[in-house]
Amino acid sequence: MRCANDGRKAVAKISYPTIALCRDCFNSYVERRFLDEVRKWKLIEPNEKLALALSGGKDSLVALYLIHKFFPENEIIAIAIDEGIGKFRELSLLQAEKYCKLWDVDLRKFSFLEEFGFEIRSIARKVRNVCTYCGTLRRYLINKKARELRAQKVVVGHNLDDEAETILMSSFKSNLMDLLKLGPIAGILDHPKFIPRVKPLRKLYGKEIETFARLNGIKVVPKKCPYIKYSYRYGIRRLLNSLEAKEPGTKFRILEAFDESFPALKQKIKLEVKLSECKNCGEPSSTSLCRCCQLLRSVKLK
Ligand code: SF4
Ligand code: ZN
Repeated sequence: MRCANDGRKAVAKISYPTIALCRDCFNSYVERRFLDEVRKWKLIEPNEKLALALSGGKDSLVALYLIHKFFPENEIIAIAIDEGIGKFRELSLLQAEKYCKLWDVDLRKFSFLEEFGFEIRSIARKVRNVCTYCGTLRRYLINKKARELRAQKVVVGHNLDDEAETILMSSFKSNLMDLLKLGPIAGILDHPKFIPRVKPLRKLYGKEIETFARLNGIKVVPKKCPYIKYSYRYGIRRLLNSLEAKEPGTKFRILEAFDESFPALKQKIKLEVKLSECKNCGEPSSTSLCRCCQLLRSVKLK
């Protein structure tokens, strides 16, 4: 197989359109996609202090690698959260430590146990949809810690698959507010306590990021979180993967359609709805009790 650009030996394929490329052309493709997204939406500005949500998985490690490579002037702090999942997270956090050391990035670790007094494992014994709890609590903690560390943006490694899945999940649940929170800069409403969350990898397929990691010597833990199979996302993921296999580009088109239709509506809502603060914890919230406090109360942990 030969590279479609220069005829050299192809070592990887981009997902859509399916094209075989050599190592250099594949790396250039990934880096261009990343930089185009950063520039188009002004995701990273000069001198901004960045907090990067680092799980130690392929997406966040590649996001860190690319930011470290292309934005050396920006101060970066990696924030790693140990949710208390067990072996899976222990291994991925070891990877996070390893690469932060290698790239000389300041890594700060926090845990659910220290911050909330329990591990996600104990929630998993009480509820089936453990991902709802884990994801909400993790976002809450990352925002809080990023703010305390005086970061101006939180960088997350969400890829195209994640984004397309979330668009469908919010659509199927008919949750307009959650849908509008999506996009290259997550969230709809401004609040001094809310640190904008940016997604520079959202135009890259998970497979492309995996290949990029492999070609650039970034080793990732092959294990998956044991709780993912109980989530609503898992079902949507399987559905989308089978559609993508039959009709390549499905996920990409979902994202394109979203980007074309939602900015105007997002702007309208921004003018009409105001974020206030949770009466329990003081974190930004559009309801009197924030989502995190609601969930903690629902499992009687607060
Ligand atoms: Fe948490 Fe679910 Fe992700 Fe596992 S799959 S880390 S439980 S959100
Ligand atoms: Zn709260």
